[in-house]
Amino acid sequence: MSDCIFCKIIAGEIPSAKLYEDELIYAFLDISPINFGHALVIPKEHHQSASTIPEETAGRMFHVASRIGILLKRMEEFDAYNLHLADGTAAGQVVMHAHLHVIPRGAEDGFRWNWRQLTYPEGKMAEIASEISAKLAGKIRD
Ligand code: 5GP
Ligand code: ZN
Repeated sequence: MSDCIFCKIIAGEIPSAKLYEDELIYAFLDISPINFGHALVIPKEHHQSASTIPEETAGRMFHVASRIGILLKRMEEFDAYNLHLADGTAAGQVVMHAHLHVIPRGAEDGFRWNWRQLTYPEGKMAEIASEISAKLAGKIRD
């Protein structure tokens, strides 16, 4: 896609600190990291949403992201890593080329997810599960 910043990075039109590349995916360092080593793994094909990425490519993204996470743990002072993907503006997606964040984490790194925990009213959990599972049936390979 011609006006996509990540497509330009893949094409080499914008420089990046490349970590890995194969026929399906490209991995590089995030320019504004949560912690140093914070990486992004993207499909070479332009997809705005993760939902349209072919299964093989999505699997490769997850596999390589996990390998990078393990390496970051070994290389630096980190204990762990988060994989994060924002799909849509309300979820925090700013660059509209799907990307998987690999965020190295340390127990004392000072970063906290602002993660609230709601409680389902009586019956709501079963109702939502039933609606999703009915709609999901038969759609996984679409
Ligand atoms: P999002 O909020 O869309 O999930 O994350 C987009 C990420 O892309 C941000 O963490 C941002 O720092 C990173 N980013 C945006 N533009 C560039 C760029 O030109 N180069 C690199 N390496 N990262 C970028
Ligand atoms: Zn793109």
